[in-house]
Amino acid sequence: MKGRRMCGTVTAGDEGQRLTVAGWVNHRRDHGGLTFIDLRDHTGVVQLVFNPATSPAAHEIAERCRLEWVLKVDGLVGRRPPGSENPNLPTGEVELTVEGCEVLGQAEAMPMGVSDELAADERVRLQYRYLDLRRPRMQRNLRARHRFIKSLRDVADELGFIEIETPTMIPSTPEGARDFIVPSRMWPGHVWALPQSPQIYKQLCMVGGLDRYFQIARCWRDEDLRADRQFEFTQLDLEMSFVEEDEVFLVLEEMISRAFATAFDIPVSTPWPRLPFSEAMRRFGSDKPDTRFGHELEDVSDIFRASSFRVFRGALDQGGSVQALRVQAGAELTRGELEGEWLQVARTYGAVGLAYMWRRSGVYEGAIAKFLSEEEQEALTARLGLQDGDCVCFTAGRTQVAQTSLGAVRLHAARRFGWIPPKRFDFLWVTEFPLFEADPATGRIGSVHHPFTQPHPDDWDLVRTEPTAVRSRSYDIVCNGVELGSGSLRITNPAQQALIFEALGLSAEEAQRKFGFLMSAFRYGPPPHGGFAAGVDRMVMLGVGESTIREVIAFPKTQSGADPMTGSPTPVAPEQLAEVGLRLAKVLERGGTDHDGREG
Ligand code: ASP
Repeated sequence: MKGRRMCGTVTAGDEGQRLTVAGWVNHRRDHGGLTFIDLRDHTGVVQLVFNPATSPAAHEIAERCRLEWVLKVDGLVGRRPPGSENPNLPTGEVELTVEGCEVLGQAEAMPMGVSDELAADERVRLQYRYLDLRRPRMQRNLRARHRFIKSLRDVADELGFIEIETPTMIPSTPEGARDFIVPSRMWPGHVWALPQSPQIYKQLCMVGGLDRYFQIARCWRDEDLRADRQFEFTQLDLEMSFVEEDEVFLVLEEMISRAFATAFDIPVSTPWPRLPFSEAMRRFGSDKPDTRFGHELEDVSDIFRASSFRVFRGALDQGGSVQALRVQAGAELTRGELEGEWLQVARTYGAVGLAYMWRRSGVYEGAIAKFLSEEEQEALTARLGLQDGDCVCFTAGRTQVAQTSLGAVRLHAARRFGWIPPKRFDFLWVTEFPLFEADPATGRIGSVHHPFTQPHPDDWDLVRTEPTAVRSRSYDIVCNGVELGSGSLRITNPAQQALIFEALGLSAEEAQRKFGFLMSAFRYGPPPHGGFAAGVDRMVMLGVGESTIREVIAFPKTQSGADPMTGSPTPVAPEQLAEVGLRLAKVLERGGTDHDGREG
């Protein structure tokens, strides 16, 4: 629109000017024979005054219009009468006296409010997402997202990366999740997969001599949805040739810290601390530790080696450990709380129980106190620095379970006692993840990251003999207890890669069928390379202070994996199936366009 001025930018400096604004009717009221409308666009609101005496046609529209109609208005900027200014608005000193008005769009009664205060139920919000997007908060989030992505691109370009679009119809990628598949019409009975990541293609780009690749890449994984997971999500994906960890770290620290500053005005200092996986587990009971506060776990196994307390002793005798957490000022916690909520938190991570004692007036109280000898109590007091008014919590059992469950209790305690300082962004690298993990149910070995990750150079010998003890050259970025992404240095030697496939229980034929093209590529001069993928949605979520990624994605799915706005997914038409040579085994109940009542 020619000469259009944005609503939120009209200020006292414009007094006496004739301006044109356009936007949505945010609010309307009549007062003293005049009609006032707050007109809104994404920059803010400006107050319009309609006077029936001087502009009767415009006033007639003002009287007739409803909330969320779209108007174009010409008018004269003047100061608001003294006493009626609004100091909370940038436009609060002025108003536009309307001389001409045109209706550009009409609105029926709105199914939901579009101000932040009136935020509707999420299902309604997603059903009318195009209205929800009008809310200032969504506007702010999506604009911050845009700035963030632009800044990532700018810095990547400066650092010599080029953006390459890899295909989105590909064979399956081994990221460990379920694929979304796309049936092929030209090859009946054959399917494409949507990429879980551009992993293989970016490695092929390195073989192709592209040196520094990046992409703001859409990825798909068919997993259950959570606050920080969607079927489709966006990654800052990159790969670099001729590098070791340090160079990858430097690039990501630069990109992310600069983009956080530009997009969110959040200063992020670099370099980021590096914490090996085993240390993260030991100190924080998590591979994505929240390091904004201390209150670390203590392994107190040595204190209880000869204990007569059966629970601790039993765990130790079976090769496990006893972990302890000092909960400062925790004496105020009730038994009900500890044996209810707190125990539940520990159980979620596999702990059988949560032992605890309070320290009051120099003595320990609680059910387990009488089982601990005086020496054990004293050693504990000294090790954890326990004081009157504290509580101490314990988990005992398989070390990893004891650590992760007490790690979860640590986070729970942090929220309960306000240990987390506001407005802090603690980025760190967690390094040397195990290369393999064993499925607890089947014992089957799987990759923790993906099968192209290099083992730690000292651990090659263990690949065959003790695979779960092998450390890898992989690394995660963690911020405030949220995993923001992962990466690794890659294997480029076909023989070494074959050894890893073998450890994963992949037969040579299977490996050839799935990844033969990559193995072939590595026969023709592969440069050493490594890379990373960081979750854009999660980073924006953190940057704008939201607690789900749905708030920073324009059109997300609900937690039950549907889109109430378009009523999808939709049942498939028989003709569509026939075209790709498929037939349904049975018609499933849950079809139709109604995905009601499954919000989790
Ligand atoms: N493809 C990996 C992922 O999506 C990241 C990487 O190794 O670069 O997690």
